[in-house]
Amino acid sequence: RAKADKRTSVRVFEQQMHELAARNLRLSSDFQKAIARTELVNFYQPIYHLKSGQLVGFEALVRWQHPELGLLAPGSFLPILEKTEAMRLLGEAVMREAAATAKRWHENHTSEFYVSINVSDEQFAFGNLAEMLRSLLEEFNLPAHFLRIEITETVLMADIFGGMSQLDELKRLGIRILIDDFGTGFSSLSHLATIPAETIKIDRSFVHSLAANTKNYEIVRTILSLSSNLHLGAVAEGIETIEERELLSSLGCEFGQGYLFAAPMPAADAEILLGMNRLSG
Ligand code: C2E
Ligand code: MG
Ligand code: MG
Ligand code: MG
Repeated sequence: RAKADKRTSVRVFEQQMHELAARNLRLSSDFQKAIARTELVNFYQPIYHLKSGQLVGFEALVRWQHPELGLLAPGSFLPILEKTEAMRLLGEAVMREAAATAKRWHENHTSEFYVSINVSDEQFAFGNLAEMLRSLLEEFNLPAHFLRIEITETVLMADIFGGMSQLDELKRLGIRILIDDFGTGFSSLSHLATIPAETIKIDRSFVHSLAANTKNYEIVRTILSLSSNLHLGAVAEGIETIEERELLSSLGCEFGQGYLFAAPMPAADAEILLGMNRLSG
């Protein structure tokens, strides 16, 4: 049954790829031009230790500086690239830019911090993510703990792309793995024991209205007790109010990001925050 499911999902995936291939061909070639012209830029959102206000890292979040349409958020172009190889190219551009930025910041600043990179299923499917990251670390002479990667549960669901073995390889390299949007996938519990991840990211949808919504509060409380029992770290995303920060902190969530602290911003602005090192006030 599991085997049949796996075959079916591979077939469905392949079929979807073929259908989308034609439609996306043009967009993909536009997109490759965009990469060549460096229209892709990373924004960075700071991540803080909630109790002390210490800056601990940044999440790299891609933007497309389109010549006619202006600055595009990922929600407006990532879905079009899904299941195409352009997604792998985007991922590589983002990783390269993040590695270069992490290197530069570490040369200019003494504080400890990491840059966390979102990776897509396509980077597992169409390429060797572990090999790519290994050669980037080498090229930039960057210690592995300066970078982290964020994966979603779908990568691991059926291990269609050999994602699990690539993750094991990343772990051996010393790159930490976070499970993004935790709680919104399908496989949360069954895979937690086997994923070589150190940290979960609590999805914004649960953090949002944490204070007013008792169901969200209970979900977050349960996620945090689960992660703590499994010795996993936790980062909350989408913290917008002081009350949310305090509730999360009191429930044992150590780290967080959100508009309360800062929205994603250009690298130059993020570097200024890095110089300040912790939240003021
Ligand atoms: P994500 O990885 O879950 O990233 C968090 C998203 O929440 C970001 O949206 C961020 O701007 C937003 N956010 C952060 N704090 C707040 C807050 O307090 N309130 C609200 N309302 N939103 C907040 P963004 O930058 O639009 O990215 C959306 C999604 O696109 C990301 O979700 C991620 O799944 C994907 N993405 C972004 N960059 C990349 C990338 O380089 N590669 C891949 N594969 N996916 C990416
Ligand atoms: Mg993320
Ligand atoms: Mg997330
Ligand atoms: Mg999310």
